[in-house]
Amino acid sequence: MYDPLINASPKNQPLAESYWLDNIPLGHTAPALINAQSTDVAIIGGGYTGLLTAYYLATEFNIDCHVLEANQIGFGASARNAGFVLKGSGRLSYSQMAKRWDIDTAKGIYNEFTQAVARVDDLITSNGINCDRQEKGYLKIAHNQPAMQFMQNAAAFIESNFGDSAEFIQPDEFKQRYMNHHQAFGALRMNDGFGINPVKLLLGYKQLIQDAGVMLSEHSCVVDWVEESGIHRLITDKDELRAKRVICAGNGYTPKQFNQRIDNKYLPILSNVIVTEPISVELLQQAGIFTHQVAMDTRILKYYYRLLPDNRLLFGGRGAVWGKDATNPKYGYRLKQALNKCFPALVACKVDFNWTGWIAAAFDDMPHVFEQNGVGYSLGYCGAGVSFSSQAAYRLAQSLTGEKIPNLPLYRSPLPQMPFAQLRRWGQWGYYHYGFIKDKFTF
Ligand SMILES: Cc1cc2nc3c(=O)[nH]c(=O)nc-3n(C[C@H](O)[C@H](O)[C@H](O)COP(=O)(O)OP(=O)(O)OC[C@H]3O[C@@H](n4cnc5c(N)ncnc54)[C@H](O)[C@@H]3O)c2cc1C
Repeated sequence: MYDPLINASPKNQPLAESYWLDNIPLGHTAPALINAQSTDVAIIGGGYTGLLTAYYLATEFNIDCHVLEANQIGFGASARNAGFVLKGSGRLSYSQMAKRWDIDTAKGIYNEFTQAVARVDDLITSNGINCDRQEKGYLKIAHNQPAMQFMQNAAAFIESNFGDSAEFIQPDEFKQRYMNHHQAFGALRMNDGFGINPVKLLLGYKQLIQDAGVMLSEHSCVVDWVEESGIHRLITDKDELRAKRVICAGNGYTPKQFNQRIDNKYLPILSNVIVTEPISVELLQQAGIFTHQVAMDTRILKYYYRLLPDNRLLFGGRGAVWGKDATNPKYGYRLKQALNKCFPALVACKVDFNWTGWIAAAFDDMPHVFEQNGVGYSLGYCGAGVSFSSQAAYRLAQSLTGEKIPNLPLYRSPLPQMPFAQLRRWGQWGYYHYGFIKDKFTF
């Protein structure tokens, strides 16, 4: 499997053998870039970030842009994810943000994440994107007693400082009304998160840019980026696109030596998902799964899960460290063992799908959406980009056209350098071992 820290580029890569792609045909691909072409804004990467940046540039700012996608739309994380539309905050809690900066900054960041969820909701509704939206509710499940206390405090912090509703559900009520989960100590519930089919959402965005007349070239991997007298020459296998400005939206699929603005400033991490066979209503009752709301736990090495519309259970967590190990079945097997511990009645339930994909993390654990002198990027959603990519795309489009955007750390600082970048994978390996021990032995 393509590994952004090993392989020179993501060209000619197969699609994931996922549950989503088993069900939905991707349709016609746009032709690859041929003949030298030029545009005002070139966008590298055709996932949610790239497509929506193009959409906002074209529709709100009337700017000519051209999206280059290395493979087919449907190759990257935007077609591999679990479909949780939620307010992500990277690894920092809002009280940690208030300590790192101040309460107004934490509130500003919270507002951006809230707007991101509302933005996706609105894009779906106002454009009639049929993406199997499920009931609302994001459950952040406490996996032990200290985490339960932490979630209770987090709910109180959000309510009192941000005036938003965040409910802590006590363990007994959680087991009776939501999930009879054998490793849960109650949950923090946010009422605006929801599940969708990520590929249907992506294809909906693709349709939006095509309707807006944006140029799209699939199977057009940028293999070289040359800057000459204020013009960016993006070289693909077949030809080149010349642009006055560039947005880099390759996210976790960006190869390691691509542009000095982002090289050595992110860590691509594999996330792994399994999907079970459809579960009968009786077995779901027995297992104690009473909700289709999206759920994630508080472990360092988190698990996330949701009941899909056809009553299959999707269960995700960390994957391999190196791309060469990505398809080793042991990662899917580990997830099934974890699922069994949460819901022992599902031990005999078969796994029908198992796949993996790259997410990107920044050294300071938060996304960076940054633009300077006509070159922008958005990276480091840390596994929560289904919603935030929409807000990031909007902010990138605004920034590129000179509009004022909120003065927040998410937007004002470039990605920090990864210390000892050559060793970042070993750092990740060490962190997984630390997380495993901490998750197992903290009560
Ligand atoms: C298994 C998994 C589960 C996840 N679950 C969730 C979830 O439930 N909720 C959530 O919020 N987030 C989730 N995420 C994260 C989420 O999917 C990502 O944050 C989001 O899709 C990122 O979108 P993007 O457009 O920025 O990047 P991507 O969708 O990864 O798109 C990047 C694209 O850039 C292209 N590209 C890269 N380099 C080049 C180049 N040189 N030339 C041309 N094209 C290039 C790639 O081919 C790729 O298609 C998950 C991710 C994974 C892998």
